Amino acid sequence: MERNQVYQYPALEINLNKVYDNIKTMVEIGREKDIEIAGVIKGFNGLTRVVNKFVEGGCKHLATSRLDQIIQLKDEGIQHPFMLIRIPMLSEVKKLVQYADISLNSELSVIERIHEECKRQNKRHKVILMADLGDLREGFWDKGELVEAACYIEKKLDGIELYGVGTNLGCYGSIKPTEEKMNELCSIAEEIEEKINRKLDIISGGATSSIPLILENKMPKGINHLRIGEGIILAKDLPDLWGLDMDYMHQDIFTLKAEIIEMKRKPTYPVGEIAIDSFGNKPTYTDRGIRKRALLAMGKLDYALNDKIIPRQKGIEIVGSSSDHLIIDIEDYEGTLKIGDILEFDIYYPAMIYLTNSRYINITYVE
Ligand SMILES: *Cc1c(COP(=O)(O)O)cnc(C)c1O
Repeated sequence: MERNQVYQYPALEINLNKVYDNIKTMVEIGREKDIEIAGVIKGFNGLTRVVNKFVEGGCKHLATSRLDQIIQLKDEGIQHPFMLIRIPMLSEVKKLVQYADISLNSELSVIERIHEECKRQNKRHKVILMADLGDLREGFWDKGELVEAACYIEKKLDGIELYGVGTNLGCYGSIKPTEEKMNELCSIAEEIEEKINRKLDIISGGATSSIPLILENKMPKGINHLRIGEGIILAKDLPDLWGLDMDYMHQDIFTLKAEIIEMKRKPTYPVGEIAIDSFGNKPTYTDRGIRKRALLAMGKLDYALNDKIIPRQKGIEIVGSSSDHLIIDIEDYEGTLKIGDILEFDIYYPAMIYLTNSRYINITYVE
């Protein structure tokens, strides 16, 4: 998914060698425990050159919640098993069967439609049944119903290959993947395996937030698959939120760059009657006297949330932003700055999803 920009900045530089290293490392971490990795590409909107590294790095599946990305990547010639990780819309079933190899599912009516479509297209589609283990987003809540659905698919829907079971945690309900939750998933799998008299291929134990279980040697043997996005492409959540050491992963694959368009000393407390800001909020301001600040040509339209971008240089602090402007405090910055200089930022997941999808961002690659 390449784009052409008129402007050079703001730019998002992506280091492809580092992407490759991170996938390799993650695949290796999984391999030691017989866990295969689906590389989740939705966080960076399936940018083709990044996806290529996922393939080269050895992840088993390419996974995304957006069928559009799968269609585009397939059309660009990427030959690798694609997995749709959002429950399919009935209205996309036709394209799903045409383009994706695997999908996560929780509704029998959708699965029946996929089966019909498979017959029509003379194809087979792999289905992973999702169990909701408390996070309260997708998945069967009634585990008996899940087992029944599995048996029904196995016996009656020959267009569908019952590929396995999976769960998702830590998304809506912020529920932590624990040994106990993983064992719960394994026993659902065992129950199905007993009834259908064969092993399931995939028991998919979650996303990045399930990695600590591997590293702490607590992952039950039955789990053989994870769907990893953030932990490969940013590797910031686990160190930041869980205190996990991930120094062996590159945490600077992305460099956001923006240009200084104004530099002045100004008061830190607005002058006049305070009403509401451009996003309808009434923020609070701290009076720190007159300080040196700079204005950058980039804003919430690009990265959505200014607490999800982090200045690389010491002594630079984000003060606030509007749609198209970022205000930074540079009073404590020890170097020299001038109009036209470019400043660099690290980004977190929420900023990544917007930046990689923005037509105003000049995406560049280092290889
Ligand atoms: C987004 C998503 C993932 C990947 O999550 P990360 O935290 O980025 O690893 C895995 N599974 C499902 C169902 C998802 O929607």
